[in-house]
Amino acid sequence: MNTFELDSKYVAQTYRRFPVEIVAGKGAVAFDANGKKYIDMGSGIATNTFGYADDEWIAAVTAQLNSYSHTSNLYYTSPCAKLAELLCERTGMCRVFFGNSGAEANEGAIKAARKYSFDKYGEGRAKIVTLVNSFHGRTITTLAATGQDVFHTTFMPFTEGFCHVHANDTEAMLAAMTDDVCAVMIELVQGEGGVNPLDKGYVSSIAKACDEKDILLIVDEVQTGNGRTGTLYAFEQFGIKPDIVSTAKGLGGGLPIGAVMLGEKVKDTLSAGSHGSTFGGNPACAAGALNVISRLDEAFLAEVRAKSEYIFKKLASIKGVLSVSGLGLMIGIKAEKPTPEIIAAGIERGVLFLSAKDKLRLLPPLNITYEQIDEALAILAEILE
Ligand SMILES: *Cc1c(COP(=O)(O)O)cnc(C)c1O
Repeated sequence: MNTFELDSKYVAQTYRRFPVEIVAGKGAVAFDANGKKYIDMGSGIATNTFGYADDEWIAAVTAQLNSYSHTSNLYYTSPCAKLAELLCERTGMCRVFFGNSGAEANEGAIKAARKYSFDKYGEGRAKIVTLVNSFHGRTITTLAATGQDVFHTTFMPFTEGFCHVHANDTEAMLAAMTDDVCAVMIELVQGEGGVNPLDKGYVSSIAKACDEKDILLIVDEVQTGNGRTGTLYAFEQFGIKPDIVSTAKGLGGGLPIGAVMLGEKVKDTLSAGSHGSTFGGNPACAAGALNVISRLDEAFLAEVRAKSEYIFKKLASIKGVLSVSGLGLMIGIKAEKPTPEIIAAGIERGVLFLSAKDKLRLLPPLNITYEQIDEALAILAEILE
């Protein structure tokens, strides 16, 4: 049996996969089993920060593998400690808990928020306000946090204590911040929800209200983080200091690692025995993440912003593009043609696009070249002709 057949017989059929089998890649270029070349404008859904098979990243990870790939969290390991130091130095956060995915990072964030409130105020203050159209993960609790009814039709009962308000409606948010609320959790650019950035004024009014009421502000940077939006974390562009930041996707550069970054208020909330993960912060993934974060310096991030501006400008002149949204290299496109049609035509012509709701979504590797951008956008223009 070939891979398509094996997958459809033996793998749980939770994904509507495109008929492409990736077998190799380099940077922003992927190759399928027939040797066909694609420009990958999705980078594994914002995970392959430096694209496929990045030499420096491979060297960092394999050096760690050759030394030891894993031990338990009962012992000290240097990649984990150094990564936490680097993240704190770069963000102003105080401590980091490591898990293995975005959903897990959000679970950790939710646990930290509820424990902070319980330790300080006791029971009855566990509610968390999130936004309509948000996406926070696939576990039962992060599905409950996700403000989209389509995710709440099966798997009942969900974790209690979440409510959802419409994005950019300050009054609705303030009204929801009642005495039983311990945290507000937001994505600064809703990713899966359609690449919708929040208004800056709205975000700063949430931050101010949270501060006044000792409600924790959790920013879900699973997708927006790790250079994706043109700064190391998107919150830097919104002039806020979150209490908790969760991240994952691009952090490991293609290896699974998630992080819950804890600010001053909650830095000691997750005490010994209160949370844990067998693989969390494991040396191989942490070595990959250390390589990623240390390379996302100011010069590199300026280049991400320049590429973003370049793409936004080019998209504005492509016929059939109705509107463009997003931040950095996280870009949503409303086009005249239906998104599934564009994606199928892209596969045919050698470009891999993503979707987010009804939009076409671009999440290219951050080191994509201008030539590759030109090539991909020329094909998009051709498709939209
Ligand atoms: C992808 C994503 C998640 C879930 O991450 P997983 O690694 O799939 O668990 C959570 N929040 C946001 C904003 C995401 O984009």
